[in-house]
Amino acid sequence: MKLTKENVFYSFCAENKPAVSVDAPARMEFETMDCFGNQLRRPEDVMEEIDWDRINPATGPVFVNGAEPGDALKVVIEEIKLDEKGTVCCLNDEGTLGARIDGSHTRVVSVSDGMVHYKAANGMEAEIPVKPMIGVIGVAPADGQDINTGTPGAHGGNMDNTMVGEGAALYFPVAASGALFGFGDLHAVMGDGEIGVSGLEIPANVTVTLEVCKGKAPQYPVLETEDALSIIVSKPTVDEACQAATELMQEMIAERTDLDLPDIVMLMSLVGDLQICQIVDPEKTVRFVFPKKYIPGLTF
Ligand code: CA
Ligand code: ZN
Repeated sequence: MKLTKENVFYSFCAENKPAVSVDAPARMEFETMDCFGNQLRRPEDVMEEIDWDRINPATGPVFVNGAEPGDALKVVIEEIKLDEKGTVCCLNDEGTLGARIDGSHTRVVSVSDGMVHYKAANGMEAEIPVKPMIGVIGVAPADGQDINTGTPGAHGGNMDNTMVGEGAALYFPVAASGALFGFGDLHAVMGDGEIGVSGLEIPANVTVTLEVCKGKAPQYPVLETEDALSIIVSKPTVDEACQAATELMQEMIAERTDLDLPDIVMLMSLVGDLQICQIVDPEKTVRFVFPKKYIPGLTF
């Protein structure tokens, strides 16, 4: 089954009308627009002329039959096929260095043979290997909340986590009947932090598998790869996000092993990594990443 880019939404909300209902497990392809709603696709397209109501479109939402509050929605990212060009921008007052920039600047950058071919204004060229990832991905929050797709949170959303790529499995806390899952905002490549406010924003076709894990809702999205278990936390400040991500990882390990607290703390201190996802969105996002090989059997 394929969901096209005609099916988009701009806020995660339990009231959203589903684009489609599926029985889990379901394998689905999603066509996604870039975070600008594909409005900056030519070198002459300028930021001043874009329609800000069409920013951060997510494709969906998908109603997953049988997904109820308290369950986890498992999303495996099977394959990401990128378009042949992407857009990166920076502008005054946006991002970590926004106070130093005048006006707005965009570059349309070609992507081929697994490489991003970046050309600077002075003629310098940088060849950057692609590292495809999904910026916005999540489920509806609990009844009464309406969270725009530019904001991250416990429901997922605009987490801009470079680990959300092929092969990763995500677990979201289902808070509304059917989960109402969707995603968009693909990046061909992005650095941790996303300091300039954009990655290489690019349309894509993405295949995912959806599954329901009954009664297993985590507090924040969990991401698992072959090698690591991680938790992704968004809070108003990086400090708060780091504290909460560390506490939640400690609790996840405690629930899954018979290690005592001092050993968990010492192991987390030795091999666990606190990493920044992004520091430019309305809430800041970090991840705590723990390598699974040091605790046999550690898994979501
Ligand atoms: Ca984003
Ligand atoms: Zn983006």
